[in-house]
Formats: sequence, C-alpha cells, structure tokens
Amino acid sequence: MSNDRFVIAGGGIGGLALAIGLAQKGQRSIVLEKARQLGEIGAGIQLGPNAFHAFDYLGVGDTAREMAVYIDNLRLMDAMSGEEITRIPLGADFRARFGNPYAVVHRGDLHGVFLKACTAHDLVDLRTSCEVTGYEQDADSASAVLASGERVTGKALIGAEGLWSRIRQQLVGDGMPRVSGHSTYRSVIPTEDMPEDLRWNAATLWAGPKCHIVHYPLQGGKTWNLVVTYHNHAPEPVAGRPVTHEEVARGFEHINPKARQIIEKGRDWKVWVLCDRDPVLNWVDGRVALLGDAAHPTMQYFAQGACMAMEDAVALSHLADQGGEIGAMLTRYNEMRRQRTARIQLQSREIGTHVYHPEGAHAELRNTVMSAKSPEDWYDAVAWLYGSTGLEGAVSSETLARR
Ligand SMILES: Cc1cc2nc3c(=O)[nH]c(=O)nc-3n(C[C@H](O)[C@H](O)[C@H](O)COP(=O)(O)OP(=O)(O)OC[C@H]3O[C@@H](n4cnc5c(N)ncnc54)[C@H](O)[C@@H]3O)c2cc1C
Repeated sequence: MSNDRFVIAGGGIGGLALAIGLAQKGQRSIVLEKARQLGEIGAGIQLGPNAFHAFDYLGVGDTAREMAVYIDNLRLMDAMSGEEITRIPLGADFRARFGNPYAVVHRGDLHGVFLKACTAHDLVDLRTSCEVTGYEQDADSASAVLASGERVTGKALIGAEGLWSRIRQQLVGDGMPRVSGHSTYRSVIPTEDMPEDLRWNAATLWAGPKCHIVHYPLQGGKTWNLVVTYHNHAPEPVAGRPVTHEEVARGFEHINPKARQIIEKGRDWKVWVLCDRDPVLNWVDGRVALLGDAAHPTMQYFAQGACMAMEDAVALSHLADQGGEIGAMLTRYNEMRRQRTARIQLQSREIGTHVYHPEGAHAELRNTVMSAKSPEDWYDAVAWLYGSTGLEGAVSSETLARR
C-alpha cells in the first residue's frame, strides 16, 4: 500500500539517515534522488559526539565507528603569528563527559554507511534520476511531484533535498538562500604531500584576517582533508567548480608561511560559495515537512550541518514510532528541532565573524579570551551541543546509547 509509506525527497546523508531510522521502527519509505547515482563528494566531514549518539539510534553505530579517524585535539592557531591560541583535548576526559568521541570521516564513507544499510533493508526503496519539483496533498496522503510529471504518494512527504530544496520553496517560500560572500576551497591530498611539520592528529584551524584554513587526516591517515576559506564577497552561489591554484592562493598571501604552505600542497581545488538561511519557525505543511539543509541550512563553521540532519532523522523516526496523527507528529518534530538548529545557524555566522576572520585588535582580543580557557571551560561551552541528543523530553541519551 503506497499510502503506508513515507516519501523522502533527496538521498543525501539526511534523507538516507531518515530512511534507515524509519525502517528500524518498521516504517516503509521510498527515497527519490535527483542524481543518477547515490553518492557524496570526496571531502571530509567532522562529527561531534552527538553524531555518534545518532548513529547508535539509527542502528549503524558499529559501521560508522569503523570508518572514523579519532583525532586527539581541536586546535585553533593564529594564522598570522603561527602560534597556537587554544586546543580542546578530545581524549578520555572528553569522551567521559559526552559519552562518545569526536571524529573525522570521508563523506563518501559516511554516506556509504547509510546507503549500505538502506540497500540491505526491505522497508527502504531507493529511486535515482527522480527530480522532485514540488508537492500535492489531500486529507489522507501527500505526493512528491516529479519533473517527469509522475506523482509519488505516501502518508507523509519529507523534503531532504538540501540547500536548494524545491519542497521548501513551496512550503516556506522564502526565496533564494543568503549568499555569505565566503568562498571555500576544498582539496584532499595523499599523506606524503602533507607538510611533515603539520601532520598533527587534530582538526586544526588557522584563523586569519578574512580567511581561515582547516586540515585533518582522513581514511586511516592515508589522506588529508584541506578546506580553506576566504571572505572575498563572492556575489553568486557556487557549488564544486574547479579553480586554479592561483585563484585559491590570492586569499592567503597575507598569512604566516607555516599556514600558507597548505595552499601550495593542495591539488584539484574546487570552490563553494557558502550560503545559509535565517532560521524559520515553521517547516511543516500538513503531511509535508523538511529535514536537514532543506530545513535549516547553515554555514559549516560549527561543523554540524550533517550532524543536525542526522539528529532530525532520529527525532522524526522516534516520533513516527509513537503513532498518532501525521500532521501532529510532524508539528511536534518541528517544535522539537527548531531551537537547537536555529542556534547552530546563528552561532555559525558569529563564529565566522568573531573567531575565524577577525583582524587587528579584534583578533588580539580573541586570542586573549580564548587562550585563557581550560579544557573544562571548553567542555562546558559545548555541553549544550555534544552532551545532548536534541531530543530532551522525548528520549534520553541513556536510551540512545543502549540501542
Ligand atoms: C565546506 C563544507 C564543510 C562542511 N563540513 C561539515 C562538517 O564538518 N560536519 C557537518 O556535520 N556538516 C558539515 N557540512 C554541512 C553538511 O555537508 C550538510 O549539512 C549536509 O550535507 C546536509 O545533508 P542533507 O542530506 O540535508 O543535504 P544534502 O547533503 O545537500 O543532500 C541533498 C540530496 O538531495 C538531492 N537533491 C537535490 N535536489 C533534489 C531534487 N529536486 N529532487 C530530488 N533530489 C534532490 C541531492 O542530489 C542530494 O543527494 C559542511 C558543508 C560544507 C559546504
């Protein structure tokens, strides 16, 4: 019965996490993906302990843990002086405090964990080459409208098609995403190309005037992920366009050579002009709701966009399992998720302005304030995020850990 299933638009990390979460609860779904093949770009992603709470709930904790690289520290460096400003140790004390590790993974590997689980599950149907252009609904069902004209119908429709969600366009109608003017360039290089003096088992961030550089090891330490960002006031959204080395280097000429050598080492750079949106209160219309970047797209400065998409999947699967009327369930999901995701959206912008990109007196103040913090101060500062499931009142972290 097609009316018994959830229809999920978008087969990214969020859409597949939801499909497997629903399947764990005995709920059928069909995933409609625009691309001809399900997959992810070859870059890295950071995962806070909250991502591991979600993996466990979604039944993929063991496979997710196998492909992760466990780093020792989050390091913040001054890209002008070359000195460390502060670090957050991620060892035993961190794990004891938050119940799970902090890790970095290859995006393809992470997506692959969900894809494998979905492919193996009878209750998940995956369809590619299906571009969703909008939706229709009546009292009993909701349908995704495809570019081909076909309608794919179920008891609810979840828009998980990312930043450019067509379902959001119809449901919220808040126009184009906000173009931040920040250009992010990404590259993955083999370990032998990584400068030896920077091969730290850490997610390292070099903060400089209007720019920052991030690097960390991937795939058991075989490769390194390089992500460098320049606030160049780029006016148009861009996603994954190949760029020359010269274009990347232009934004980093003013920083310390120790940090700048990363730019020399990168290869096959691609650029994204970052976009986000202001948080909105409502992302539900009857039997239709949004999830992940479609609902709350954010700058990546908290490294939490994918983590939030997975938490959304946990919340929605959990509520779907409680039964009851679909519209009320989706409204409850929206209420449960919107403050936490809004905080990520808004604080990510703040981090860019006040931590990653300041210069002069502003940068000096940052260094003084941040270098005075102890590991415990840092743990307290992120406790709302890492020590939580985002499901308070619905499911406890002990329950998540037991699954
Ligand atoms: C540079 C950068 C670094 C980041 N680093 C981190 C990090 O360290 N940690 C972290 O947690 N997050 C990070 N993020 C954020 C993270 O990538 C996103 O939040 C996450 O991918 C959102 O997942 P999603 O499934 O909601 O959307 P997406 O990943 O965008 O997936 C959407 C899917 O829908 C498909 N689709 C699109 N349109 C349609 C349509 N019309 N019909 C059908 N299918 C469609 C797409 O092909 C895609 O498969 C980073 C983002 C960037 C840009």
